[in-house]
Amino acid sequence: MTDTVSKEKRSETMASIRSADTKPEWILRCGLHRMGFRYRLRDKSLPGTPDLVFPKYRTVVFVHGCFWHRHEDCRRATFPKSGQTFWAEKFAGNVERDARTRAELERAGWRVIVVWECELESDTEATLERTARSLRAPSDEEPSPVPSRRELLDVASEKVRLRVASYKRVDKTPLSGF
Ligand code: ZN
Repeated sequence: MTDTVSKEKRSETMASIRSADTKPEWILRCGLHRMGFRYRLRDKSLPGTPDLVFPKYRTVVFVHGCFWHRHEDCRRATFPKSGQTFWAEKFAGNVERDARTRAELERAGWRVIVVWECELESDTEATLERTARSLRAPSDEEPSPVPSRRELLDVASEKVRLRVASYKRVDKTPLSGF
């Protein structure tokens, strides 16, 4: 009995770590922040609770995990061998929800940018540059330099380490930006 409770608790904690504090998301947040962008995190008042919200650009950004959100033609979007019906339904549900969220946001006048975790990890600087360009378009602000991948990976690793450590101490910590 006790074991069941602690198992639930544990998976709940793990889920909150996974969803809120992934390394790719830190890389993006840190990189864009250094490039001068300011944003809100996880605005629950918007459809789909976007990861980053840029009110000035009327744009939201989702950092999508390739596995859960089914990045097309991505080797991370594997299909588990067992429980295929379960996974097929789960994935279909996720993809459908993503499409509905995008439609709702666009209808409300928001631009939606999706950044994939594999791009952020393997092609960090180009992905940041592309995201920044999408954010600025159609305005013509002076672009800031893109921070180096090495630097961002270091920061992201440290942030995740600290955040995971803080989850171990208390169940929920309020999110803070940079
Ligand atoms: Zn991918």
